[in-house]
Amino acid sequence: MNGHVSMSPPALFEPGDLRFDVDRDPHMDPSIAETTEKAIRILSKNSKGFFLLVEGGRIDQAHHAGRGSMALHEAVALDHAVAKALELTNEKETLTVVTADHSHPFVINGYPFRGNSILGKSPLWAKDMLPFTTLMYGNGPGHKMVGGKRPDIRQVDTKTNGYVQLAAVPMESDTHGGEDVVILARGPMAHLLQGVHEQSYIPHAMAYAACVGADRTHCATKRAHAVAGATLMAAFSKAAGPLGSTLAMLLSVAMVAILN
Ligand SMILES: [Zn+2]
Repeated sequence: MNGHVSMSPPALFEPGDLRFDVDRDPHMDPSIAETTEKAIRILSKNSKGFFLLVEGGRIDQAHHAGRGSMALHEAVALDHAVAKALELTNEKETLTVVTADHSHPFVINGYPFRGNSILGKSPLWAKDMLPFTTLMYGNGPGHKMVGGKRPDIRQVDTKTNGYVQLAAVPMESDTHGGEDVVILARGPMAHLLQGVHEQSYIPHAMAYAACVGADRTHCATKRAHAVAGATLMAAFSKAAGPLGSTLAMLLSVAMVAILN
């Protein structure tokens, strides 16, 4: 590269947001796993290593719309992307971090029986003698009170991709939540990400692992050099509540930067 960073043209597949994965035309639109694979194959040609950020941004958008099924499908698509990334990289030289930048007020409730669909209804009926969805939102477009009554969903198919889960408070768009989210890491210096951390700690830990930034005193050793030449890959997803943040650790389309 003769000291210059080569600038690849951006790949744009839609005039706006990418389609949800279940709406994607597999003949025309790459999946997040495919874009992740392509990015890694291009970036891994750089002998100095690389930094890749992959974001499963549509998980968040599905939650804003109160569409639990769609959000879970997007989380699975992100999971496939992470699996592909782990397959294409070596954990001895690549630090992979998967986390979420926030949660959503998305909960599992109602004591569903083993074997019940996560997209189904509670076996319990509420005081109004009506069931409710196993997945619910604290707020969002799924607040469907009519004439002071909750909707009767006994005959409603709540498992469709377009179904909007019930919500306690009426909002045009579901808000973000405030729970802790998970952070998972594999590779060199992954131990720095054990335990509970402020979100702002993560980039410092990653920079430290890559021998980038102010504190490089640990970079003089032979082992540190091995890490410094390593790849850093971060996967972020916008997660949801206890369920989403766990599943979602994984990601979608990406922003790519090369560190020198
Ligand atoms: Zn959001």
